[in-house]
Amino acid sequence: MNIVRTGVLAMALALLLASCGLTRPASRDVQGADTFEDDLRTARTLTESFWTDFFDQQGMTYRPIVDFIPYSGKSGPVCGGEPSVPNNAFYCPEGHFIAYDRSWMESLWNDMGDGAVYVIIPHEFGHAVQSQLRTGFELNVQAELQADCYAGGTLSALVRSGSLRADPGDEDELLLSLEAAGDPTDDWLNPAAHGTAEQRQSAFADGYDDGVPAC
Ligand SMILES: [Zn+2]
Repeated sequence: MNIVRTGVLAMALALLLASCGLTRPASRDVQGADTFEDDLRTARTLTESFWTDFFDQQGMTYRPIVDFIPYSGKSGPVCGGEPSVPNNAFYCPEGHFIAYDRSWMESLWNDMGDGAVYVIIPHEFGHAVQSQLRTGFELNVQAELQADCYAGGTLSALVRSGSLRADPGDEDELLLSLEAAGDPTDDWLNPAAHGTAEQRQSAFADGYDDGVPAC
């Protein structure tokens, strides 16, 4: 994990992603507006499609998540005996599902643009992949940064394949989203727990530039 990065990289990433209103070309309607639900569904479907192909190329079989659960406030599913918390999205290894606070996700989508969904969902699928690969980490931050890297690798592959199109839009969208993505538990602002914004952007850029094998 190379954490000796400067703002140059963040600037390079900003340029690289200078037009990141991510949309699925075929789903764009005449008004030019995808709905939140469209983006959620598309992010899930395309991310699993990417990993299915990737595992296949490695002679392995990707196991799709068993559920994708919207919840509200504290009403989310229990995972490993722990209750869900508001304003979060998470992967649960025990049940092999992803759950998300729907109104929190929608507010990010409204405030930051669709890039928020296309960072958070691939990040959570990154944890599902770690679980399947039984990747071990000494520190939680390493798992978080690898999930950010996986998200970058997933997105760049989808853009390259034409499944997603980067549209003119807020150039800071994905970068801002990286700060909001991940697992905002009580200590989510603790840099030791999840990585600084710069580390997260750097990890995302590694994946975006070099693909998931670089993660
Ligand atoms: Zn995470």
